[in-house]
This record gives sequence, structure tokens and C-alpha cells, in this order.
Amino acid sequence: MSADNTVALVRNDLPAVRRPVLLLTATTLTVCILALDLRQSLDGAVAVLYIAVVLVVAPLGGRYVIASGIATGLLTTAAFLIGHLSHPTNGAYSRFVVSLVAIGITTLLSLRDRSSRTTLGEQARILELSHDTVIIRSNEDVILYWNVGAELLYGWARHEALGKKSSELLRCKYDDLDVDECLRTDGHWSGEVVRTRRDGTRLVLASRWLLRRDPEGRPVGVIESSSDLTARLRSDTERLASERRYRAIFDSAGFAMWESDWSQTVGTVLHAAPPGDLRPWLMSHPEIVGPAIQSGVIRHANQAAADLFGVRHREELAGANLCGRYLESGAGAFSTILAALADGETSVEAETRLKTFHGRTVDIVLRVTLLPEGRNWSHVLVMAFDVTERNEARARFEQASAELAHAGRVSMLGQLAASIAHEVNQPLTAIINYAKSATRWVDREEPRLDEVEKCLSSIVSNGTRAAEVIGRVRSLARKAEPQAEDVDLLDLIDGALSITRREAAAQAVQVVWERPVAPVPKVRADRVQIQQVLVNLIINGIQAMASSTRSARELCVYVKVLPAGDVAVHVRDCGTGFPDGQGTMIFEPFFTTKSDGMGMGLSICRTIIEAGGGTIWAQNNEGAGATVAFSLPACTVLRGVAATHI
Ligand code: ADP
Repeated sequence: MSADNTVALVRNDLPAVRRPVLLLTATTLTVCILALDLRQSLDGAVAVLYIAVVLVVAPLGGRYVIASGIATGLLTTAAFLIGHLSHPTNGAYSRFVVSLVAIGITTLLSLRDRSSRTTLGEQARILELSHDTVIIRSNEDVILYWNVGAELLYGWARHEALGKKSSELLRCKYDDLDVDECLRTDGHWSGEVVRTRRDGTRLVLASRWLLRRDPEGRPVGVIESSSDLTARLRSDTERLASERRYRAIFDSAGFAMWESDWSQTVGTVLHAAPPGDLRPWLMSHPEIVGPAIQSGVIRHANQAAADLFGVRHREELAGANLCGRYLESGAGAFSTILAALADGETSVEAETRLKTFHGRTVDIVLRVTLLPEGRNWSHVLVMAFDVTERNEARARFEQASAELAHAGRVSMLGQLAASIAHEVNQPLTAIINYAKSATRWVDREEPRLDEVEKCLSSIVSNGTRAAEVIGRVRSLARKAEPQAEDVDLLDLIDGALSITRREAAAQAVQVVWERPVAPVPKVRADRVQIQQVLVNLIINGIQAMASSTRSARELCVYVKVLPAGDVAVHVRDCGTGFPDGQGTMIFEPFFTTKSDGMGMGLSICRTIIEAGGGTIWAQNNEGAGATVAFSLPACTVLRGVAATHI
């Protein structure tokens, strides 16, 4: 097969310009043959030439072949009838029949040839579509056919490759003897060959060779198909290296890691879950989700996991499950994990507690990742971080903070002792006076019970006032665990102002409380601690004005609802302002400018506010004095509350 033939085979379609030429030739030929046939002298002998017309239109397709066969048959018949009907001879009849048979056979053969060409053409097209390279070579190794796959892989265009020797063009390397032997005996060979692309890069190919033979069975060349192994080999190598890296990281990680198979257990739970949004259902059924996750089978674990669970070798964990290892108290974590993973997150973190095989309780943060091959929950990577020490340290810190806050309150109350005593003394004095005067009204000859009643009611109200002051002081002095509750900041400000009223009066400070009329959202905090913060800020403001030489002494308290929904309380004074202007130093522990100060008040305030998720800040005012403020997140956002000073 020549190179041109092969390419022509592939390009089976007839060029558009050839169609009219063939049709014109066929028509001219038909007219000439008909004219000759009608000449009586030739006696019908030329009709057989119509087969040339059928052969001319054959490349145009089956329809043209059939049409030309029928048309020439009809013309032959018509010419016979015109010329011989009146004086038929035996010779004319036989020539007529022979002509018709010849036309019929030619038509049928043309149709068959056409159909096998179509089939061959389609097969050739398939070769073009193949991503593999297909090359046909002669016995002399000359390239006769070169498909698109070969163009793409080797970088040589078809016209550049055809006619070249493949061993020279592609600098092929393979075991010649082995290949030749195989081809000779089996007629085919397959194996790896190394070739060079046009740009000089080396390729490793998986190649299949087939011996081509002529009709007599003599070898005439080779047809070969090859696919590039280079990329596959490279990606195999990379995958292997990546697997080794993963294994090394897995084994040597300093924290516990294990890979589990949840496909049986979790898959069943998810299958049984009602249709619709899974998350609420999973969150409300920890008693189903927890056991399902815990009974997932561990595929393998690292040594750190073995250490965490208290087993000697990590192999002991392989094939085991963790049923009964987790504590009930952390069961909700599994619902959180499963809900997030079922929602499409690939990685999720949750805290829980487990009991080791030695019975030790460990607080752990689980980080669960659905590995790419584990979409059916078959490969779940679990990392566990032991946070027991961190939690214990946090608990110790919280306790120390609470104790410090308590000490701060007691010390603050010590500073306020004189004012508080006076605050309580006032109603007590009033009570005594009202009691004396009631006695006098009773001792009269005609006791005035109406006056006695007035005195008694004044005694009650003053007694209540004194009890309120003592109650507030007691609650501040109380030592109890901080307890978060929904707190109305306005009430707390009322209380703090009442405790500090006397101190303000003693320093001739006028207190302005811009109590908002609009509702203010409650905040979630510990009531006593926030009260402590408020009293601290107010006392600091009063003291800053006491040490100032300015005549204006006004302390203003106001509230703002911030855009994010937080509630902020501001305490503005006309005092000395901060030494550094920014008010950052003042929150540091032991920073004080007062001779009898401890410098712990604002540091404690910051700890309290930040523990409640809020912020505290301070700045000098544009005119005189400073403003110290804090904000806390609101429990609920009230509609229509403007984010402004209210
Ligand atoms: P102490 O009151 O014991 O000094 P604080 O932590 O409450 O401790 O305050 C630290 C310092 O911050 C104070 O000594 C003072 O210098 C400064 N300070 C606090 N509030 C104000 C204020 N409203 N105006 C000016 N300075 C203030």
C-alpha cells in the first residue's frame, strides 16, 4: 500500500469539484454511446459500452450507480426496440441481453466496491480518532501511514513523517532480535519501546506490532499502535512517593491519627434518616449517631493513637472499634461531626472526652476528614489532640480570674467603706428619728395614730433603702462561681450609681445618667462581675475629677447599641485624662498613678469583659477628661433600635 493510497483511503470523501466533472463525463459518454447504438450499422453491439458510464459515476455514490444502471439499461432497451423491433434477428437479441447483463453486473460490482470503500474509510477515520499512535511501515521501515495521534505525540506532521524511516525519525530503541523473532513466528509483538520526540524528549511507549502480509502471505511491513507510558509512569511514581510521604507523616505524627471505615455503620444511619434536611435530625439524635460513629472499624492507627488509648502496639487498634471508649457527656460532638460531613464539608472539628483502656479520662479535640476515596464513608481520617492539660490550665486560669475579680471587688468595697457606711447610716438615723417621733405621738394623752402610721411607713421605706444598699454590697462581696445570665445593663447601671452616689456627692461630682427610653437588648454575662466593672469605671471617673483642678465636675453615663448589635456602656468624666492619651497602659496590671492605688481595677475589668466576648477601651475626650467604655454582645437583636447613642 503506497503512502498516497493510505491517505486517500482516509480521505474517502469526494472533493466537491469532481462531482460535476464526473456527471458531465458520464452524460457525454451516454449520449455518444446512444448515438452509436442507434446507428443500424453497428446492430446493437455498442450498448455494452454503457458499463463505462456506470464505472464513471461509481465514485459519486450508490444512488448514482443505481440511477446510471437503470438509465443505461432503459436506453439500451429503447435503442433495441427502435432498431430491431420491426426486423429482429437472433444476433441482435443476444447482444441486447448480453448488454443488459453486463450493465447489471457492473452496477452490482460497483455498489459492492462502494460499500467496502465506505467501511474501509470508516475504519481509517477511527484510526484518526485514536489517541494512540498508529503507524504503518514497509519492510524497509519506511513510514506509509501516520495518524493524528502520532502527529500529536511525536510532534512530526504527517507530510513530514511519510516516506521517512521510522527508526531514524524516532530514534527507536527496542530489542530488534526479539521483536523480529516474535513477528516471524507469531505475526505480532507487544512490548515497551523508547522513542524520541521532535523536541528531543524521550518517550516510553507500550507498543503492539502486527505483521502485514500480501495476498500470497509474504511479509510487506508492520502496522503498529502505541500509547504513551511516560505520563502514566511518572504519575505512578508520583503517586507512590505521595503514598510513602502520607504514610511517613501518618506514622511519625506526634498526635493520634487513625483511619476508620464508617461505611457500614454511618451509611446505615444516613440511609434510615427521614428525607429532608439531615442536620436537625442528626443533631437531635445523638443516641443513634454516637454509637454509629464509634462502631466504625479502625483500618490502621499510628503509635500516638495507641499511646492515647493506652495500648502497647498500634497494630492492636487495627480492626477494632471505639465502642464504649467515648464518654456520654461528649456524645453531641458526633452529631456535629456527622451533620457537617453529610452537609458536604470535608473536614470538621469537635471536642469530646474518651476513656483510655487504663480508665483515664482524656479531653480530646477530634478533627475528622473525609478522605477523597472515602465518599461512601469508607476512609475517614480522624486526628485526636489531647487537650486535657489545656482544659485543666484553662479551668485553673478561670478560677484564678474569678478569685482575682473577687479580691478586686472586696478591695473596691474597702475603698467605698466610708461612703457605704454613710449610705446605710442615713436611713438608720432617719429610722431612729421616726421611731422617736412615733413614740412621742403615742405618749400623748390623745395618741395620734395617723401620725404614728406615717412614721412607721417612713421607717419601713428607710429600712428598705438601707437593706437595699447592704444587699448590693453583699452581692458584690459574695464569692461565687461566675454565672452567665441574660442581664439588663440599665438595671445594673442603676445599681452601680446607687452604690457610688455618696462617693460622687463627697467629691462634688454631678452624675448624669442618660437612661434610654427605647428598649436596650439584654446581654449575656455574670451580673455581679458587670456590676463590678461599672462601679470601677464610675469610681475611677470620680477620682480622676477629684484630683483635677477644674471646676466642672460632671460624670456622664450613656448607652449605645452598636451596628453589630452589641451594647456599649460609656462613662465620660471631666477629670485629668490619661497620662498616655491613648488609654492603653491603664489596662495593664499594676499600672496606677494613685499613691494608694493597686492598678488592678481596670485589668480585672478587661478580663471580665473579654471573657464575656466583649471589648473594653478608653480615650481622652476632646475637651477635658476621659471616656472609658465597654461593649458586650447582645443576646437578641431588638428590631428598630438605632445603632446610635440612645
Ligand atoms: P487604680 O485605680 O488602683 O489605680 P485602675 O486599674 O482602676 O487602678 O486604674 C489604673 C490607672 O488608670 C489609674 O491609676 C489612673 O491613672 C488611670 N485611670 C483610670 N481611669 C481613669 C480616668 N477615668 N481618668 C484618668 N485616668 C484614669
